[in-house]
Amino acid sequence: MATQDEVGIGDFVLLDEITIEKFMENLKRRFQGGKIYTYIGEVCVSVNPYRTMNIYGPQQISQYKGREIFENPPHIFAIADAAHREMKQQGRDTCIVISGESGSGKTEASKIIMKYIAAVTNVGGQQEIERVKNVLLQSNSILEAFGNAKTNRNDNSSRFGKYMDINFDFKGDPIGGHINNYLLEKSRVILQQPGERNFHSFYQLLCGASDSELRTYLLSRDPSTFHYTCQGNVSKVEAISDRSDYKSVVAAFKTLGFAQEETETIWKIVAAILHLGNIQFSSSGDDSKPAIEGVHKAAALLAVTPQDLSKALSERVIAARGEVMQKTHTVSEAEYGRDALAKAVYDRLFTWIVDKVNKALDPASKSDRKFKTGTVIGVLDIYGFEIFDNNNFEQFCINYCNEKLQQLFIELVLKQEQEEYMREGIEWQNIEYFNNQIICDLVEQPHKGIIAILDEACLNVGKVTDEMVLEAMDKKLTNHKHFTSRQLSPMDKALRHKEEFRIRHYAGDVVYTIIGFLDKNKDLLFQDFKRLLFNSGNKVISSMWPEGAVDITKTTKRPLTAGTLFKNSIIELVKILKSKEPYYVRCIKPNEEKSPVLFGDERVRHQVCYLGLLENVRVRRAGFAHRQRYDKFLKRYKMISQFTWPNFHAGSDKDGTRVLIDELRFSSDVRYGHTKIFIRSPRTLFALEKARNEII
Ligand code: ADP
Ligand code: MG
Repeated sequence: MATQDEVGIGDFVLLDEITIEKFMENLKRRFQGGKIYTYIGEVCVSVNPYRTMNIYGPQQISQYKGREIFENPPHIFAIADAAHREMKQQGRDTCIVISGESGSGKTEASKIIMKYIAAVTNVGGQQEIERVKNVLLQSNSILEAFGNAKTNRNDNSSRFGKYMDINFDFKGDPIGGHINNYLLEKSRVILQQPGERNFHSFYQLLCGASDSELRTYLLSRDPSTFHYTCQGNVSKVEAISDRSDYKSVVAAFKTLGFAQEETETIWKIVAAILHLGNIQFSSSGDDSKPAIEGVHKAAALLAVTPQDLSKALSERVIAARGEVMQKTHTVSEAEYGRDALAKAVYDRLFTWIVDKVNKALDPASKSDRKFKTGTVIGVLDIYGFEIFDNNNFEQFCINYCNEKLQQLFIELVLKQEQEEYMREGIEWQNIEYFNNQIICDLVEQPHKGIIAILDEACLNVGKVTDEMVLEAMDKKLTNHKHFTSRQLSPMDKALRHKEEFRIRHYAGDVVYTIIGFLDKNKDLLFQDFKRLLFNSGNKVISSMWPEGAVDITKTTKRPLTAGTLFKNSIIELVKILKSKEPYYVRCIKPNEEKSPVLFGDERVRHQVCYLGLLENVRVRRAGFAHRQRYDKFLKRYKMISQFTWPNFHAGSDKDGTRVLIDELRFSSDVRYGHTKIFIRSPRTLFALEKARNEII
């Protein structure tokens, strides 16, 4: 069982003393001994090994298949198996929430889980289920190509959030799935920090496409010749082969049933964006004239005329009091429009691809089963907490999302645990923990929350600047314990006046630059571009822009802001997760250097603290190291007592459990809940296991 794992202790609950020092000591010892997984009860703590581990093969798969968590050394397979077993046996939806900061191993964990589930299902070898499994696994390479990028933290950083439902039939075999994607970091399309890259797809196309394909896309091979792929000054990542990834992605498109024309359009759009990025504007008088070459190439790829594209880039059509007029852009307006177009086109493409993947996975579409969807396992792999040198609207959204997930963890793990004791009628001393609800409120509250303040500013028709937004925040959030700015604390020299604010997140302080918040929240794309693309001769592209059909003189409803859309989607996500039985994987990044040997004590300690792992252990154990339903308990240990072997007939499972415990003289160390036995000391559990092992 877990506790006999040879390196360190396999479950933090069984430490003899619950202090941060002991916790760290154990985690470090295990990491250095090559044990990357450790439990806190049923929560799996995972430390990124930064090397290939030989622990995911067929031998381990069969070792964990169908086993209880405590029967084997800690492994993420055990969590996947528990989620699958619970779903299959109890008919309940389950979910696996994977959290941790950027580069801590969340995406790898989600892939390992999916591979495990694929490996243990469909023993009957049904063709359709094999197909579904294949689609599930291959969808990863597509989503990563278009949604991941090299950042300074992680060479393969997910720049979007992903929640995936896998649907199972009554036998527990996968029959389909559905992906929800959250807020793609589209600003990356036009702007990359030093040392970072654009999304992988751009480099895959440039490196992987054949010469003749490149001619079709009117491209030269060198990423440094494109403004959108040269800013970070790295076009190559050592651990990534863009060339072979391009081939895998193209193959995956095929597997998922993308038509040839669709695949070609996808790459044409990627190429068109590269050309758009190279369009320069020169001013002649008040006008901005785009340079010809880029316009021609981008137009050809988007199947619009160069004249129309040029027009949309250099002027706007506006309707005022029933009259339609043209207004010519200044150079900076034109540049803004070009970049907005590039971002929007990529974002739409991404959403369209996710929709296509969903169609390929739709369990309802090709099944003649009466009970189509059955139960699901949800897997959440969403961007982790981010603190950069420069934190923008994107980090604000991402960190808000992490606050919400932490809140969910608190509710489900810390609160529920304590509630379970109450429900079971067990006496209990409350454990203190930091409840981050106050920070969630700071962001999302109606009227007073930061998103509401931003939205109000966006509604304003007059000229509103980012600086004015910050002033409004200062006014409304004057006394908030988790918010400050230079205005509110003039002595705080670390904050730039009228430009920065700080949020005290559960995971640490983050200073945000207000510059760009308004713009990104509004997320404006001139209607001219929507019309242009709706009228594209390429019907795939046209279908991505249905709102371009709207007549210019019709007033359209103001769309929801990016912040509000994101908030709504996260609230919806939390609802989905809450409706399922949760399992947790808490990922930890051992060092910044991507080293397989370094264990940065300070860095790790910080993560352990903000993830609330110590509180998790305390709550889990303050009373009871272990609890088990009576039926399961008896099934596992009944051979130890002559009164319960081979079966107990003199009463309920609870009575049987009591007889067994009494005979072994453990009565003083256990409590009897309504449905479960609670065992206080790990020693009792050891003793039970030992006794069992001696008999079998
Ligand atoms: P996150 O999604 O949390 O940002 P990733 O899952 O992308 O982080 O992990 C970052 C990198 O760390 C991976 O590209 C891989 O090199 C390494 N890594 C993470 N988990 C594992 C693992 N279980 N085994 C081997 N390498 C891993
Ligand atoms: Mg990731």
